[in-house]
Amino acid sequence: MKFEDLGLSPNLMKAIKDCGYDTPTPIQEQAIPYILMKRDVVGLAQTGTGKTAGFTLPMIEMLAGGRAKARMPRSLILSPTRELAAQIAESFDTYGKYSKLSKALLIGGSSMDDQIRILERGVDVLIATPGRLLDLFGRGNILLTDIRILVIDEADRMLDMGFIPDIEKICSLLPPLRQTMLFSATMPPEIRRLTTKFLSSPKEVAVAPPATTSSTVEIFLAYADPRRKKELLHEIMVHEKIRNAFIFCNRKRDVDLLATWLKKRGYDALALHGDMAQSHRTETLGKFKDGTLPILVCSDVAARGLDVVNVSHVFNYDVPNNPDDFVHRIGRTGRAGMTGRAWTIVTKEDEKLIQAIEKNIKIKIQVSDIGLGAHKQGETGDSEEKSGGRGDSASRSGHRPKARGRGAETRKEADPAIREEKRAESPKPPRESNHKHGSERHIPAKKAHQPPHRKPREDDDSSGSSGFGDDIPAFLRPKS
Ligand code: AMP
Repeated sequence: MKFEDLGLSPNLMKAIKDCGYDTPTPIQEQAIPYILMKRDVVGLAQTGTGKTAGFTLPMIEMLAGGRAKARMPRSLILSPTRELAAQIAESFDTYGKYSKLSKALLIGGSSMDDQIRILERGVDVLIATPGRLLDLFGRGNILLTDIRILVIDEADRMLDMGFIPDIEKICSLLPPLRQTMLFSATMPPEIRRLTTKFLSSPKEVAVAPPATTSSTVEIFLAYADPRRKKELLHEIMVHEKIRNAFIFCNRKRDVDLLATWLKKRGYDALALHGDMAQSHRTETLGKFKDGTLPILVCSDVAARGLDVVNVSHVFNYDVPNNPDDFVHRIGRTGRAGMTGRAWTIVTKEDEKLIQAIEKNIKIKIQVSDIGLGAHKQGETGDSEEKSGGRGDSASRSGHRPKARGRGAETRKEADPAIREEKRAESPKPPRESNHKHGSERHIPAKKAHQPPHRKPREDDDSSGSSGFGDDIPAFLRPKS
């Protein structure tokens, strides 16, 4: 199918052409005709499938021609996170650039007065997070009686974030005669219930079975001593050719700590989590999106829907507690036909979570020789030499040839991670004193010299015998 076959107006076709899109993606091909027929639609699609254009393009088509009245928006898109809402608003600007539609972005952490001013002028499309929308509604700044189109995006994320009661409340405030579209990567029973309650004979379209990982992402596990996760992460980062990476932590506090730790080692890394001021969140994400920031350490606020083109790596510093979050996190890479690599740092305590993830994605994830993976394979009598932590890493399913003897020992010597562990046990004084991680051992530097373009840092106690930064590719270092 071609875009021409969808019957979109010349203005939209021009905008699509400007984006360089050749053909509709499968979700667009399936959903757009039904949306244009004004049918309710349930779209089972992950981010990265082009689902935003899948609902944005027909909405622009349908809204063209009408006129919005003050404080009475004509359509509403609900998004679980501010970042995703902002991204949808950008899509409206992109696809609607030749159509005269107005929009308002209502998200927390931004000036309410500005948002109210825009609402007063009348908007065609309202893109909102549930909390801010209800706030403004409660204050009488919005009337929802003119909403004819509703989109609930990332419904399963809404569920995870506890927004379902808000969604139900919002739905009950809207006119019953409307078109509703709901998009979700998975369909847990609570979301199914929502579709039954608020959608009318919806057409269900699905582009990938729920909870599958993209075939364009290579996935690895690296086993760590719980006290040495940071060192292992660094070790992997040194081995991988990283262009840019999301590093996910389960707790906001750890996001900050890890970002600081990486910065001290010369990585150009910043933190992103929900406790940060919105302006700071927007600025940080903007830097990551425009390529000026290569490493984003983040909580799951960044796991869903964020579309950053060409992300080479995702690292799970912590195994996510919810198996679906694993899918969302690693879905930040391998997008739009590009390939990506996703690493998860695992401790012995995480075994059950990994089993649940593997069951969910129906894949046995490869275990890298980096970290304790070598020990694990050694235990099974596996003697094959490995270069460590690349696509050639072994499968946990134990299909590699068994041979007892020198294998595990030899690997210990060959494995850079283990060599580092050995060196770490040397009696050298620690390079840094990290109060919060005092129990962590220090890994000495591989090289003593500083590359000429690396700016000496005040927080970098470059005593010659230390400095992970020497192993860090130049593009990952802070700009001097
Ligand atoms: P989404 O799943 O909505 O986050 O979209 C993922 C990416 O696909 C975005 O960068 C879009 O710009 C891109 N995209 C959307 N539709 C198309 C298309 N028909 N052809 C190529 N890329 C597309």
